[in-house]
Amino acid sequence: MKLLEDMIREKGIVKPGNVLKVDSFLNHQMDINLFNEMGKEFKRLFGDRPINKILTIEASGIGIACVAAQYFNVPVVFAKKSESINIDGDVYSTQITSFTHKREYQVIVSKKYLSEEDHVLIIDDFLANGCALQGLIDIVQSAGATVEGIGIAIEKGFQEGGSLIREMNVNLHSLAIVDAMNDETGEITFREDK
Ligand code: 5GP
Repeated sequence: MKLLEDMIREKGIVKPGNVLKVDSFLNHQMDINLFNEMGKEFKRLFGDRPINKILTIEASGIGIACVAAQYFNVPVVFAKKSESINIDGDVYSTQITSFTHKREYQVIVSKKYLSEEDHVLIIDDFLANGCALQGLIDIVQSAGATVEGIGIAIEKGFQEGGSLIREMNVNLHSLAIVDAMNDETGEITFREDK
């Protein structure tokens, strides 16, 4: 998606350790015009699927998912990071390793908000090693619900998540795929044929 790629090129900052900072328009300050265009693009890509719910993960996925949800007219559920153990069995939970914080954490979704009747579009801001997405897919499967598609804003194509998730035969689309980035020159290369 050209608008997103242009913004990444203009405002993205490449940090050591394969981290792309996009705080000025996506992860801290949010450019709602951009979010609207991303929402429309997700609708174009997934509009033929019987989606009745969008699932994302806190915190950075929530804004993108909420704006996109207006084009699908469906509710958004976000997986919550949680410290407590699930004693009552009223939540689905999974373990995720954070790429940016380099630690394991548990995320949960209440059983009230996800069931076998749901047809889910998963949305997130970044795809790196694929751990967050695998966790979300795991939660959808635990609920007996169907993953209708996965929409990602920025995929780092030089990390393994994209191929891991595509091997699972799910309908994954990333709006921008970064194939290379250099923390010394700041240069970012995008994949042409997405
Ligand atoms: P994964 O689980 O695919 O390794 O990482 C996905 C999650 O890590 C995303 O939800 C995102 O919050 C965070 N993340 C991974 N790589 C980057 C990055 O380069 N920049 C930023 N800002 N977040 C990232």
